Amino acid sequence: MSTRYAHPAEYAFKRADGRWECRLCPHHCVLREGQVGICHVRVATAGGLVAAGYGHISSSHIDPMEKKPLYHFHPGEPIFSLGGWGCNFGCAFCQNWTISQAAELRGVPSTAADIVKSALGSGCRWVAYTYNEPLVGFEFVRDCSRLVREAGAGNVLVTNGFVEEAPAAELLPLTDALNVDIKSMDESFYRRQCRGRLAPVLRFCRQAVAAGCHVEITNLIIPALNDAPGQIEQLAVWIRDNLGAATPLHLSAYHPDYKSSAEATPPEILLQAHDICRRHLAYVYLGNIRTTRGQDTICPGCGHTWVSRRGYEVTVPGLRDGVCAKCGRKSDVVTRSR
Ligand code: SF4
Repeated sequence: MSTRYAHPAEYAFKRADGRWECRLCPHHCVLREGQVGICHVRVATAGGLVAAGYGHISSSHIDPMEKKPLYHFHPGEPIFSLGGWGCNFGCAFCQNWTISQAAELRGVPSTAADIVKSALGSGCRWVAYTYNEPLVGFEFVRDCSRLVREAGAGNVLVTNGFVEEAPAAELLPLTDALNVDIKSMDESFYRRQCRGRLAPVLRFCRQAVAAGCHVEITNLIIPALNDAPGQIEQLAVWIRDNLGAATPLHLSAYHPDYKSSAEATPPEILLQAHDICRRHLAYVYLGNIRTTRGQDTICPGCGHTWVSRRGYEVTVPGLRDGVCAKCGRKSDVVTRSR
């Protein structure tokens, strides 16, 4: 991997034996010169640990906010979405593995200023760091986020949440909203299927809520791996007790990809999971399947439709000045203007 233009990595510590320890994420990779971290984008060099992915963009698109997915954050607004390279997990079922698991960075790096200029020049007032795992590109995401905020716009992270507390504390004040994947409530699932750990992810979710960020959760349901009703219920109860019952949960259907050839999630599994989670959470949505259930945002007080969704066609017929247009209940949908 070329490190010619690489940016110094932060949260890097030199050990007595001369090796570098990265404490950006809980893996704490210990690397000698020439070695690359589990995330593929942090490299030990003679000059120190470098963030080799800094400024390398794998793709950029203007997406609807719902595609992140964020359903309670400025519904229907466009968001400029940036992907980099690398990931600190190695999920066998990864749907973005061509960029998350790539051994080589492609393209010429851009500066944070150039990227932010083109993002905000598109007319979007939100920028998402998404597609690959953005937190392994911490320095670039942080630098872009600062510039975005200085320009009066806002930042969104779509993340696996596997990061240490100190860098998270630096980034969260610059972040307006997040979608965090909780892949399972089973530690062994994280170890076996993702080469990661659950506990730091749960800690990060609590930290993001405590920092005042808008947080939504996604759970990809994979048949026979994480679809047990008891485990689904455990997830809903944990979200209710730790993040709040108004936290939106997105239950998403898996499709075979990367190293995983198991059959796609049957709709009935998702519908059953929806029933279970609705016992504990006010807003549960279904993704990656064709259904009319779990699409709209409904007032928990009177059943009025606040936000209507037909695919990515989004309208907000039921909210007036942040309250339900029918019963006056305060809504749990962020629509403040920036
Ligand atoms: S960010 Fe990358 S190099 Fe650093 S500890 Fe995590 S996986 Fe290892």
